[in-house]
Amino acid sequence: MSAELDGLVAVVTGGASGIGFATASQLRERGANVAVLDRAIDTIPTGAVGIVCDVGVRASVDSAIDEVARQLGGIDIVVNNVGISSIGTIEDADDDEWARVLDINVISMARVTAAALPWLRRSPAASVINLSSVAALNGLPQRAVYSATKGAVMSLTFAMAADHIADGIRINCVRPATVATAFVERMLQNFPDPAAERAALDARQATGRMVTPEEVADAIAFLASPRSGSITGTALDIDGGMTHLRPRAV
Ligand code: NAD
Repeated sequence: MSAELDGLVAVVTGGASGIGFATASQLRERGANVAVLDRAIDTIPTGAVGIVCDVGVRASVDSAIDEVARQLGGIDIVVNNVGISSIGTIEDADDDEWARVLDINVISMARVTAAALPWLRRSPAASVINLSSVAALNGLPQRAVYSATKGAVMSLTFAMAADHIADGIRINCVRPATVATAFVERMLQNFPDPAAERAALDARQATGRMVTPEEVADAIAFLASPRSGSITGTALDIDGGMTHLRPRAV
């Protein structure tokens, strides 16, 4: 039986952990040939091709994209997943912090997509998915720089979608709420009462629980597939109702 992404090539940045790992795994299970571009590639999903790449460096991105096309024969799907955290208010962020986080969270997505465009233009099923966040819409405390970058990812997604619809390329973003990744689990262990902190994070979603990496990956896989052929220039909330429903608690 053929899988829905058979014959397609997907690039997943930051696919060595968390949401990126789950996404690369699901795209692979659905038949895509998957290349993971990450700074460290020792933990990538079985069957994926790992290419060491720093998305903050144009030369590194250009050579990684060339390598994907050389090894896998083209590029049909790009998942711009790399994103870094930045904690604090505007008083905590100096210009270097702004430049660092803007570069990795926003500019890198344009850099990777631009490098892949010649291949995407040749694809009969081109799709780009960017990782935004609930932070794009909600005023998350102590996340000023991060929130600004995730809002910019959303706007960039809409602009890119408008520019490249004529090339036959669909471009969307997802806005997850807090995702129960290994990173979040490790972060919880720093609190005196990890269980209470986990309960507080769960309660921020109207569903009463954090989102799972697999749920985000599943939504990305849908946006990557021809099943979403009429969806472009939009943002999909994967947030347990956090943004549009009354939360159980804040
Ligand atoms: P993570 O920290 O678990 O994984 C990020 C991956 O990116 C790692 O494998 C890391 O090695 C790689 N990476 C970091 N900088 C890189 C660089 N310069 N070049 C190449 N690779 C690099 O991240 P995550 O929690 O799975 O988040 C993935 C994305 O989802 C991010 O954009 C994040 O902002 C977004 N997001 C996460 C959450 C959450 O709760 N985890 C919620 C909403 C949105």
